[in-house]
Amino acid sequence: MRKKACVLLSGGLDSVVSAFYTQKYKAAVEFCLFFDYGQKAFIQEKKACEYYANLLNAKLYTIKLPFLKEITGTALVNTHSVPSIDLNDLQDNSITTQSMLDVWVPNRNGLFLNIAGSFADSKNIDFIIAGFNKEEAQTFKDNSKSFINSINKCFKFSTLISPTVYSPFYSKDKSYMIKTALKLNIPLNRLYSCYNGYKKMCGICESCVRLKRALSNNDIAFNHYFEI
Ligand SMILES: [Zn+2]
Repeated sequence: MRKKACVLLSGGLDSVVSAFYTQKYKAAVEFCLFFDYGQKAFIQEKKACEYYANLLNAKLYTIKLPFLKEITGTALVNTHSVPSIDLNDLQDNSITTQSMLDVWVPNRNGLFLNIAGSFADSKNIDFIIAGFNKEEAQTFKDNSKSFINSINKCFKFSTLISPTVYSPFYSKDKSYMIKTALKLNIPLNRLYSCYNGYKKMCGICESCVRLKRALSNNDIAFNHYFEI
């Protein structure tokens, strides 16, 4: 019988491509878990998640974590603005580290994966899919292979069925993910990757700039996706 998967879905490039890739090559994606932690982009992300969950034929769960907004000072949830960067800044470690600190939500991925672990254990799900990738792993340690291995070890103790966190693109960059999306015919025009949460993606936050670079590397005209 085909194995089953649930996906940590945000509606952005990484989680969407990881979900479709898994569906094609690894396991049936039955559930998508979307987290409402008070992020500015909640409404737009949710719309994207609804769209892609529907295409995947998976059930979408929205899980509320309101306490995160109360305990963190991150620009992702608070009123101060998300830093803007430009393409050259992506090569500058001091800028990407500062940008990372501005949007850091304490233990977010650890929290999400552990909630997914509870979910998987109770619904007999074999794989938990996370859209980690090489680009973000350079600044976010909780996108790395070591982190995935550590969580998988924890699940051997904390769950009965030991689900496996599977992150097919942990060693790949976003350009590669766009290439894969094209191969799998995933519609790109409904992705939402912006930290700011405007109706149209801002085009100047780190997440938007990384998406723009990946689209551009694949010769995809992208201006209409972004405000700037
Ligand atoms: Zn943006």
